[in-house]
Amino acid sequence: MAIADASPVKTTCPYCGVGCGVLAKADAGGVVEVRGDPDHPANFGRLCSKGSALAETTGLDGRLLYPEIDGRRAPWDEALDLVAGRFSETVRIHGPDSVALYVSGQLLTEDYYVANKLMKGFIGSANIDTNSRLCMASSVAGHRRAFGADTVPGTYADLEQADLIVLVGSNLAWCHPVLYQRIAAAREKRPDMRVVVIDPRRTMTADSADLHLPVRADGDVALFAGLLAYLADQGALDAAYIERHTTGFDAALAAARAFGRMEIANRTGIRPADLDRFYRLFAQTPKVVTVYSQGVNQSAAGTDKVNAIINCHLATGRIGKPGAGPFSVTGQPNAMGGREVGGMANMLAAHMELGNPLHRERVQRFWKAPAIADKPGLKAVDLFRAVADGRVKALWIMATNPVDSMPDADQVRAALADCPFVVVSDVLAATDTGHYADVRLPAAAWGEKDGTVTNSERRISRQRPFLPLPGEARPDWWIVAEVARRMGFRSAFSYAGPAAIFAEHAALSAYDNNGARDFDIGAHAAIGTAEYDALTPFQWPAPAARETKTAQQAKAPGDIRFFAGGGFFTPDRKARFIAIAAQAETWPQDASALILNTGRVRDHWHTMTRTGKSPRLSQHLAEPFVEIHPHDAARHGIGDADIVRVATPRGAILVRALVTRRQAPGSIFVPIHWTDQFASNARVGVLVAPATDPHSGQPALKHSRATVTRF
Ligand code: SF4
Repeated sequence: MAIADASPVKTTCPYCGVGCGVLAKADAGGVVEVRGDPDHPANFGRLCSKGSALAETTGLDGRLLYPEIDGRRAPWDEALDLVAGRFSETVRIHGPDSVALYVSGQLLTEDYYVANKLMKGFIGSANIDTNSRLCMASSVAGHRRAFGADTVPGTYADLEQADLIVLVGSNLAWCHPVLYQRIAAAREKRPDMRVVVIDPRRTMTADSADLHLPVRADGDVALFAGLLAYLADQGALDAAYIERHTTGFDAALAAARAFGRMEIANRTGIRPADLDRFYRLFAQTPKVVTVYSQGVNQSAAGTDKVNAIINCHLATGRIGKPGAGPFSVTGQPNAMGGREVGGMANMLAAHMELGNPLHRERVQRFWKAPAIADKPGLKAVDLFRAVADGRVKALWIMATNPVDSMPDADQVRAALADCPFVVVSDVLAATDTGHYADVRLPAAAWGEKDGTVTNSERRISRQRPFLPLPGEARPDWWIVAEVARRMGFRSAFSYAGPAAIFAEHAALSAYDNNGARDFDIGAHAAIGTAEYDALTPFQWPAPAARETKTAQQAKAPGDIRFFAGGGFFTPDRKARFIAIAAQAETWPQDASALILNTGRVRDHWHTMTRTGKSPRLSQHLAEPFVEIHPHDAARHGIGDADIVRVATPRGAILVRALVTRRQAPGSIFVPIHWTDQFASNARVGVLVAPATDPHSGQPALKHSRATVTRF
């Protein structure tokens, strides 16, 4: 498709789950311009440093432009036939669970939908998981335990309407910058608005907070147990809401009280006076939003942390009202689209339950599928273990780089090296994961892709193309559908384009629904290509009638909330308090070991495959580093800017020391971004043990034991 001197298209940023609207265009010479979309309700024209630099990242250098088999260029037909043949043969000989897909929050919803449909309904296995497992699986599990569905109750507008914002495990200023900007703008207008940051590190977000609580790693459950007990002791509960809309409060309160003041002080590491200040602020402020992110989710106790937070909001009835609610802010551009289509190993499509036979029968009937997965598949960490021990014999990885991003990354690399058949769909020719592929398939990139994403406030927006597909690159949905057709599932995967897939997805969301499930975009079930192309951002649910553009614009942004009057998605429509017992402490026994925390920097994204193309973005922090407190640095003979060997029983890396009081004593921080492509021996994934949360399967990426030595 040639796009010359066109007016800008309205599309969506491909980075974080804020889901900012972008106006983008390319001139006849291919020069790209990008700016914020003033009409998009997520950002109203704002962009952060990463979004602003998007135009610098669309060049074709390094792109995978043609299918490859064993490193040689191959025609599409040959590559697709090979993938379909090997997957079919493996299933025939070893059964459906011998194959797997590992996909990505970078996929558009239409891509995700087709991949999930192929795996669960036609191959008949739930062995499809996603790098979103590393991002928000604990929030999903916590939502489902409390609400009966993976429902985010609130909207971004709540962040501006709250009188108190509590940020837990979230460096919003760097990781979701436009939401941070929206809060900062609201605080300027309403100086009485308060912000509390609960984070082991003194981040840029913490710098601007009214109160920073430097909680010890994984001390969050104790902290919120203490808050629940405090709310009860101070008579700050909403007894009517608890009575009318919830169950399990007494058990949850008893479990919270069992922590005790001393235990809470020990586990959180926070001075009792500061804890009391926070508890008082929460108790006395009706409009509270608690935002939580990877510091909560990426933990062996991630789901319990989520429910400890939700417990406090249910107990005070502070949910689903303007300026009040628990709010999971997730990492990737398609924050919720993969969840909506059920693109995780323990989920079914359209927020239906894999464990519910009625739901399985319904989805199978809708798809007219020959099979339906009848048990959960392998979650990310277990999936790569199964590759390593030979249970999974054919693996297809789409739009993600697990050789760098997974915990125990060297074992993941070894597993791929030994796997009999690996397919990688990607936009880049040389990723650390692509190196192990038998077949590489060139996928469409941002600017070329055409579909939808859902951001962290349930808002569905279009990603639209403004660049031609280069070489022989193809959309992910097309690649999956072509493989499915060659596996013999021709009619079920004969889509004319992404609009047809979106319409089918919308129809499934409304199929036998009648308000029993939260996710419902049935109003779009008959959408045609022209209407799909003109689709304006909208929040789900949208069940009642076709939402016209006019109707959407007539609404104030952020006006769809769940649960102010109950109506949860459990059988009795009541929310569940979760009684959370204290777990054994997992602090290092070795006195020389430090707690290793991992995370993002402001100007890079994931394994830098896109942001690494922008010199401007690399100026902020140019090389991998370890943040260490001056006391720990002195204890280990480390000076600022020294090269440091950071080691765990899993592996070792070499990074530069950044000695700073931002890091709490006894802990260190290493960013996740640098791979072998950008720096030698700096892949932090090699250090992290594959420990996971028992409910969500999310890896504990923020809590390893490491030693440091000057190199
Ligand atoms: Fe993109 Fe997130 Fe920045 Fe918005 S805040 S421009 S979605 S990276």
